[in-house]
Amino acid sequence: GFNCGIVGLPNVGKSTLFNALTQSGIDAENFPFCTIEPNTGIVPMPDPRLDVLAGIVKPEKVIPTTMEFVDIAGLVAGASKGEGLGNKFLANIRETHAIAHVVRCFEDDNVIHVANRVDPRNDIEIINMELALADLDSVEKGIQKLGRLAKGGDKEAIAQKDILERILPHVSEGKPLRSFGLNEDEKKLLKSYGFLTLKPTMYIANVNEEGFENNPHLDVVRAIAAEEEAVVVPVCNKIEAEIAELDDPEEKAMFLDSMGLEEPGLNRVIRAGYELLGLQTYFTAGVKEVRAWTVKKGATAPEGAGVIHTDFQKGFIRAEVIAYEDFVQFNGEQGAKEAGKWRLEGKDYIIKDGDVMHFRFNV
Ligand code: GDP
Repeated sequence: GFNCGIVGLPNVGKSTLFNALTQSGIDAENFPFCTIEPNTGIVPMPDPRLDVLAGIVKPEKVIPTTMEFVDIAGLVAGASKGEGLGNKFLANIRETHAIAHVVRCFEDDNVIHVANRVDPRNDIEIINMELALADLDSVEKGIQKLGRLAKGGDKEAIAQKDILERILPHVSEGKPLRSFGLNEDEKKLLKSYGFLTLKPTMYIANVNEEGFENNPHLDVVRAIAAEEEAVVVPVCNKIEAEIAELDDPEEKAMFLDSMGLEEPGLNRVIRAGYELLGLQTYFTAGVKEVRAWTVKKGATAPEGAGVIHTDFQKGFIRAEVIAYEDFVQFNGEQGAKEAGKWRLEGKDYIIKDGDVMHFRFNV
């Protein structure tokens, strides 16, 4: 699966966000194949298309696809020096695919700020500095290690060392690698280093109820994100926590309505994570279950089959495909077939978001 690590200074609202995410989440027992650590939450990906498909197919079960969020609390200044548990937090971040960086953009005299004032730029710099210092360590070690190989004429070592030397000053200044402007080839060459500041990042600007507009703190976060190819998701974590506590769907709808919201703000966080990771959804729609599955954008049909089971990928023959819109317009598989919208695709087929698929495979 794909996951997103939640980082940020203490007292900015990380736990509040994580708890809201996991309360609206899925019981770990339903996912026996994942080892779930206490700080990991599996969150269903909100997708109204699932209900539309279910309305047509009337299956026994409807299963959404999911995103994983990991609460990486305790990242503080000094983490990169390996003080206390610092190294462990950095190691946890290294294992995630994307970073959700929670930034305090709300004023509240009752909530102590670690630096005694709300200052998103400073907060962001503290965290980014720790991540950059960890990367700096990797860059320096890498240059050292590649030295002899590069001298010996190893082409890949020379290319890698060249990039590492170019990014060194940038990283030394505590700037994230995201803002260096590496191209895709260079990123590929550096993949094995697992640089933290190169991970796709969203800033979750934690605002007060009335803080979505005319909020100078939020503007600061937006400006920083724009400089470094990051995205911003403004949320009021406090309200999200209240929404998540409402079990009754009707009550929840009424509460959202009274706030002038169509859906919980968490949905935007989950979608942004999905988007950040370059993910998309395809569906399987049988009478037993209608289910959403996650694949990378650009995934081929066999790769998509592999998400269900590796045997599906190994023994892949063909994929039966109906576009979501056609499936809905023609009221299911039979109708789509009669309308000529049912296709048989081979191993080079690139899956499109919303495809309703059925795989044929050899066992
Ligand atoms: P963490 O240390 O980053 O995990 O922060 P917490 O989630 O524990 O939040 C710290 C305090 O800030 C708690 O008392 C929360 O209730 C409060 N808090 C979190 N989000 C908001 C918010 O959006 N507005 C206000 N006013 N308080 C919040």
